[in-house]
Amino acid sequence: MATALDIAKHNPNAAPVAVTDSARAAGQASLPQASLAIEKKADFTVVAAGQSSLVGLTRDELKDKLAQIGVPEREQKMRVAQLWHWIYFRGAKNFDDMTNVGKPLRAALKEAYTLERPQVVSEQVSKDGTRKWLIRMPSTGPLDKGAEIECVYIPETDRGTLCVSSQVGCTLTCSFCHTGTQRLVRNLTSAEIVAQLIVARDCIGDWPDATPPEGAFVPNDGGRFVSNIVFMGMGEPLYNTDNVIAAIDVMSDGEGLTLSRRRITVSTSGVVPQMERLGSEANTMLAISLHAVRDELRDELVPINRKYDIKQLLDACRAYPGLSNARRITFEYVMLKGVNDSDADARELVRLLKGIPAKINLIPFNPWPGSKYECSDWERIERFSEIVYRAGYASPVRTPRGRDILAACGQLKSETEKLRARARMMAEQGIGAEGVYALGDGE
Ligand code: SAH
Ligand code: SF4
Repeated sequence: MATALDIAKHNPNAAPVAVTDSARAAGQASLPQASLAIEKKADFTVVAAGQSSLVGLTRDELKDKLAQIGVPEREQKMRVAQLWHWIYFRGAKNFDDMTNVGKPLRAALKEAYTLERPQVVSEQVSKDGTRKWLIRMPSTGPLDKGAEIECVYIPETDRGTLCVSSQVGCTLTCSFCHTGTQRLVRNLTSAEIVAQLIVARDCIGDWPDATPPEGAFVPNDGGRFVSNIVFMGMGEPLYNTDNVIAAIDVMSDGEGLTLSRRRITVSTSGVVPQMERLGSEANTMLAISLHAVRDELRDELVPINRKYDIKQLLDACRAYPGLSNARRITFEYVMLKGVNDSDADARELVRLLKGIPAKINLIPFNPWPGSKYECSDWERIERFSEIVYRAGYASPVRTPRGRDILAACGQLKSETEKLRARARMMAEQGIGAEGVYALGDGE
């Protein structure tokens, strides 16, 4: 999982909750058919569980919820606007706070729904102010303790960047990425994606009547504490495009969370067929995990390259809607010692990107236990950066943030898979759910 997106410094424009509707969630949780060498298969889908939270829902979903408790059609739009303001502008946690909603409706809402957030299992705060939250989604069934994902907040003086996850784990298997080794995979619903922002704003006191925790590092430029979103957490956002686009719509809605679309960056390993849609429907900034300049090497590092090679990927970049010098694509390039970091690689990178409004973001490799790569030496990174810079590209080296709490790129990997494996094993042995939960916390 990625953390700080340093590109912003060089780019003046740089920019859950209960799982609810089962049919929709189940439909959207299906992942593309896996081609074995490239991907693992997704292994479960989300089903509705318990009393559902309204937090994270889209306007249409809220409308459905109101219809379900008998709010007449003619009133629904106005009521959605009220809920929207309270949930997304004010960060309300109780229906009773919603003073302009009549008492009978508040009571009906309370009876049927909640404003619960997904559970924050742990919060770690780095020496540099970076925060990492382990967030547990509501359980999807008796044997599921709830999928866990990680979300990272990177404060700077003039911006606060939230790195969100789009999936639990990732079906892809990039050889340098820890998330790619996680076995459990499912898509997050749009509500679960939005809820990461809500949780972050709760934790850092980023609502109109809230204050940040004592001693917290938050931006001091008078702006919002979360001003930028990067989809660089767990998962491949463009294998969950419907939900990612729906979540971006909620996050950028001018009546609620009001994040600028130009401050939202979606990072993809190169799901070529979905890129046009992301640009035309979500209109966000795009980042590409390039990491290699020759197909042979990229096939190994980023195996989706075997499906969509470098040429196809760069053609899709050239066609990305809204691309201009003011809205450049960021190319991420992880620095792997002796693998992709030679002068020739740097020169080829420059040649390949010719004609594409681009920024190049060099990421020092973050090792994890069992990884087979090393990070390039600092002098090598500088030399590589110099070649790229001389060719006219800003080439910031991404400052590792939150290393002391393992919050840096590619280091995020939730432990949920262990729980599920254990749950399955115990189910097979006829041990009930209580046993699973009791065991679950011990390890
Ligand atoms: N799946 C998406 C987004 C999540 S990964 C993607 O691949 O683009 C966010 C970024 O972190 C990607 O560029 C990814 O390649 C990079 N990354 C993954 N593991 C890393 C590691 N161990 N060290 C440095 N960067 C890593
Ligand atoms: Fe998945 Fe991105 Fe990691 Fe590749 S780098 S395994 S696409 S999260």
